[in-house]
Amino acid sequence: MATVTTRLRERGEPTTRQSPPNDRQIEGNGTPEAAWQGWARLAALPEVEPADLVPFGGRAVIVAPHPDDEVLGTGGLLARLSQISRSVLIIAVTDGTASHPDSPAWPPERLADVRPQETREALQRLRLRQVQVARLGLPDGGAARLEPKLSGLLQEHLQPGDVVFTTWRFDGHPDHEAVGRAAYAAATEARLPFVEVPLWTWHWASPDDPRVPWSRARRVVLDDSTHARKLRAVQAFRSQLEPDATTGSAPVLPDHVLARLTRPFEVILI
Ligand SMILES: [Zn+2]
Repeated sequence: MATVTTRLRERGEPTTRQSPPNDRQIEGNGTPEAAWQGWARLAALPEVEPADLVPFGGRAVIVAPHPDDEVLGTGGLLARLSQISRSVLIIAVTDGTASHPDSPAWPPERLADVRPQETREALQRLRLRQVQVARLGLPDGGAARLEPKLSGLLQEHLQPGDVVFTTWRFDGHPDHEAVGRAAYAAATEARLPFVEVPLWTWHWASPDDPRVPWSRARRVVLDDSTHARKLRAVQAFRSQLEPDATTGSAPVLPDHVLARLTRPFEVILI
C-alpha cells in the first residue's frame, strides 16, 4: 500500500508530469469502514464468479505496485482461482522499500529483503497451488517516472489467455495510478482482459461517490474458509502491521485501513 507520508514526499518529486492535480487526496483516517458497511449499495454490488473472470486454461496476472497490494486487493480471489486450478503470476513492481522513510529500524535494504519474504509467506498462507512471482525491482515511489518502461516490462511477461489485474488507474496513490496506467497500456497492446482493483479508493472516496465508476464494480464473495485464509495471509505483512519505535510512527497498515481491505468480499472494476 505504502504510507501516506511516502505519498506526500513523492508529491514533491518531479513525478507529477503525467499525473494532473487530482481530487483523490489520501489524508487523515479516511472513510470509516462502518460508513461503507452502512451503505446498502456496497452489499448489493453484483457478484462475479472467479471462473468467469479467468476462463479455464487462462492465467491471472496480478500486477502489484507494492508487496501486500496483491493480497490486500485480491488475496481471496487468488485463493478461489487456485481452488479451480487457474495458474497465477504475480508481478511485483517494487519491493516496497519506501514504506518507512528515515527509519533506523527499517532502512531500504532491510525492507528489500523482508517485504518480498512477507509476500511469499502470505501466498503460502493462501495455499495457492500454481503461483509464480516475478520481481521487477523498480524503485518504490518511482512508478510514474518509469511508466513507459514499466509498460514494456509488463508486456514481456504477458501471454495469450492472461487476464491482467492491477490497482485502479484513479486509486489516489501515485504508484497505484501509474502502475494501473502502465498495466492498462500493456494489456491493451496484448489485447488481454483488464481488471482494476480499488485499494486507497476506500480511504478517500465515500458512499455513492460520483468519482468512482460503481457501475463497473463487482463483488468476489469469499466463503468462510477463504476469508479466514486471507486474514491469516494479511498477518504475514508484519513490517506493515507494527509501529516503528525508532521513528514513533504508527503501523503503515493500521486497523482502520485493514478493516476496509479484509471484508468477506473483494471489489473489482471490470
Ligand atoms: Zn500499494
